Amino acid sequence: YAKQRGKNRVERYQAGYDELLRRRGTLQGELRHAIDRDQLRLVFQPVVALPSMRPVGAEALLRWTHPDLGPVRPDEFIPVAEESGLINRIGAWVLEQACKQLSEWLAKGHDVWVSVNLSPKELHNADYAGQVADVLAEYGVPPQRLVLEVTEHAVATDMEELVRRLAELRGTGVRIALDDFGAGYSSLTQLRTLPVDILKIDHALVAEPESRTGTAAPLVDVVVRLGHRLGLEVLAEGIGSPAQREVVEEAGCRLGQGSLFGWGVPAEHFETRLRTLRPAGPRPQPTARNAP
Ligand code: C2E
Ligand code: MG
Ligand code: MG
Ligand code: MG
Repeated sequence: YAKQRGKNRVERYQAGYDELLRRRGTLQGELRHAIDRDQLRLVFQPVVALPSMRPVGAEALLRWTHPDLGPVRPDEFIPVAEESGLINRIGAWVLEQACKQLSEWLAKGHDVWVSVNLSPKELHNADYAGQVADVLAEYGVPPQRLVLEVTEHAVATDMEELVRRLAELRGTGVRIALDDFGAGYSSLTQLRTLPVDILKIDHALVAEPESRTGTAAPLVDVVVRLGHRLGLEVLAEGIGSPAQREVVEEAGCRLGQGSLFGWGVPAEHFETRLRTLRPAGPRPQPTARNAP
C-alpha cells in the first residue's frame, strides 16, 4: 500500500515536471519570434527622490504579451531566454528601446535617467561594453544618463570576470547599479570590491517594516549607511506603503521605487507624469536633525 502511494507521488511529480518542461519548450519556441512579431514592450517604473517624491529616473522593465499565452512574467521568460541564448538579442533590443526613449525625453528637456536590467549572460559577451557605447552614440545619449542594473545573483558567478566587465562598462561612462541587494547572495566584502555606483536594496528588506519597530527597519538602516559610507547612492526598491517610505527616509535613503510611487507604465504615461511636474519647489528648511 505504502509502495503504491509512493509510486503515485512519483508519477505526480513526474507529471508536474513534464508539464514544466513542456511549458519551457513552448516559451522558448515562441520567444524566438517575440521581437519580430512585435510582442515585447518596455514599461517604465518611476524612481523618485526622497523625501520630495519627484521622479528623477525610471527603470525599464520588459513585458511580453503572447497572443495565445497572454502576458508572461519576466521572472518566467528571462531564465528561458538565458538558457537558450536568446537573451543577447532580447537584451540588445531592450537596450536600444530604452536609449531611444531616453533620448526623446532628454530632447524634450526632461531631467531623467533610465536604468536597464542586464543578465549576467550578457556580461559574458566580450564586446558588451562596445555595444553599449555604440547604442549611446547612435542615440546621442550622455552615458551618465544610463544605468545598468546587475542583479546580486550575478555575483555568485566568477567574481574576477564580473569586476573586469563592470569596470569596462563603467569606462564608457554609464553608471552601474547592484540590484536586489540583501536578497541573500553577495557578501559585504564583494560589495566593496565591485565597481558599482548605486546600491538597490531588495524589496524583501524593505517590505517587512510595516512599523518602525519591525525587525527589518534596523537592517534597512544599516544597509543605507553602509552604502553611503562606501560612497554609493542608495535606492530602496519595493516601497509599497507610507510606513515603509518613512522607515527608508529615516534611514537617510534618498532614492525610492515601488508601488507607492507607481508601477511600471508605458512611456507615454511616464512622460505625462514628468510633464505635469511643477518646477522644483523651495528646498526644505534645515531642521535640527538634518542641519550640517
Ligand atoms: P527587478 O529588476 O528587481 O525589478 C523590480 C521588480 O519589482 C519588477 O518586477 C517590478 O514590477 C516589481 N515591483 C516594483 N514595485 C514593487 C512593489 O512595490 N512591490 C512589489 N512586490 N514589487 C514591485 P517585474 O517587472 O516582474 O520584473 C521582475 C524581474 O525580471 C526584474 O526584477 C528583473 O530582474 C527581471 N527583468 C525585467 N525586465 C528585464 C529586462 O529587460 N532584462 C533582464 N535581463 N531582466 C529583466
Ligand atoms: Mg532591476
Ligand atoms: Mg530589484
Ligand atoms: Mg529582482
